[in-house]
Amino acid sequence: MLKANKRTGLVFFPAFDWAIDPTHPEREERLLYTLDQVLEEGIFDISGIEEYKPDLITAKEIQRVHFCVPDEATITTQSHLISAGGAKTIARAVMNKEIDCGFALIRPPGHHAMRVAHGGRGFCHINMEAIMVEYLRQEHGIKRVAIVDTDCHHGDGTNDIYWHDPDTLFISLHQDGRTLYPGTGFPHELGGPNAKGSCLNIPLPPGTATEGYLYMINNTVLPILDEFKPDIIINSAGQDNHYTDPLTNMKFSAQGYAELTRLLKPDIAVLEGGYAIEGALPYVNLGIILALAGMDFSQVVEPDYSPENLRQAFHVTQKIEQTSEIINRYWNQRMELREKAGIHGEIQHRHREIFYDTDSILERQKEKIRICRDCSGALEIDSQASTGKHVLCVHIPLNACRQCRETGYEMFERADMKRYSRAFLQDRPNDTYTIK
Ligand SMILES: [Zn+2]
Ligand SMILES: [Zn+2]
Ligand SMILES: [Zn+2]
Repeated sequence: MLKANKRTGLVFFPAFDWAIDPTHPEREERLLYTLDQVLEEGIFDISGIEEYKPDLITAKEIQRVHFCVPDEATITTQSHLISAGGAKTIARAVMNKEIDCGFALIRPPGHHAMRVAHGGRGFCHINMEAIMVEYLRQEHGIKRVAIVDTDCHHGDGTNDIYWHDPDTLFISLHQDGRTLYPGTGFPHELGGPNAKGSCLNIPLPPGTATEGYLYMINNTVLPILDEFKPDIIINSAGQDNHYTDPLTNMKFSAQGYAELTRLLKPDIAVLEGGYAIEGALPYVNLGIILALAGMDFSQVVEPDYSPENLRQAFHVTQKIEQTSEIINRYWNQRMELREKAGIHGEIQHRHREIFYDTDSILERQKEKIRICRDCSGALEIDSQASTGKHVLCVHIPLNACRQCRETGYEMFERADMKRYSRAFLQDRPNDTYTIK
């Protein structure tokens, strides 16, 4: 009998009853072909590979991360609660040391869901990784977290949720935003004034192949992870860098994904995108599972794999090497950049527009952050959406200093309820969520 070198947990949740519409690329077949392949390869017969049934998360668990407008029940379906629950199940099993690592093969995905949620963006309504991370912090005392997003799209939702948090290192590798949804994720997007350098955005040119991807992992991602010393490493494991993916323009293979997983050694992988349902997902997922389990994955090859067609152009290689240097430089300057970003105690403003392509909603945000040398800073978001909803959202971070807690409560109490339909206070140190 085959034996895994690392005990590996798996959750499969294809969400049979949820789809944006029946022909949409984000649909249940994404996981059904993988499940067939995994059964055919006898993965569940390997000693040390455990299948878990997903939990269901509660509204309270969403409220540690999001401000859902008008509320959690309106934004989510039961499939979203189980999908997030699947990630939590793996996290708990890792914490209880039942397994060494695990992979939540769940849908719907979550990495485009931001802190304020008025609806769906990029097929996402709530952020599965962030809900799992705040569960780990609340219930298991995890502090320093690294999230490496290897989906082909910029993980703009996770980037937004951890924008101000120096205890979460968020690294997203994605196809250059000038050529792909959501159009963001450039190297200068480094996080807010209290957390510069804790968001690292790595755009890769269209046509990036396995060699270029792994160059970035070896020369930038791994050395930075080593220096950050996270308590836990999470991989947002999107599979849409694959050469057959219908939505993207990359040249990554199942072998590439498996090797990436072997190098990254995530404690927890959470499935994000990947839309080549038959041509890629079954092979990529199998490669990732074997790599997590510390097993030989050299036989996992797509039927139409042809290395000649997957060569990387010279200009692509050059561009990747340049970007790697830029990111490494920003990382090394992060403390200096934080120092220069503002004066302790001042409030900084940011205005922006967020489009929800899945639900055709336009949101305008006015954000205030307290510059703080002692914590992530009290955060206020005035959010007005084209649905007519206008809300005020106040976030007091888990590591808040006394002054930022007071500032957060003042922001909430001052909310003029003639202007807002609702005001929310997310008090992470007390683990409470207040609505008025
Ligand atoms: Zn990404
Ligand atoms: Zn994607
Ligand atoms: Zn503070």
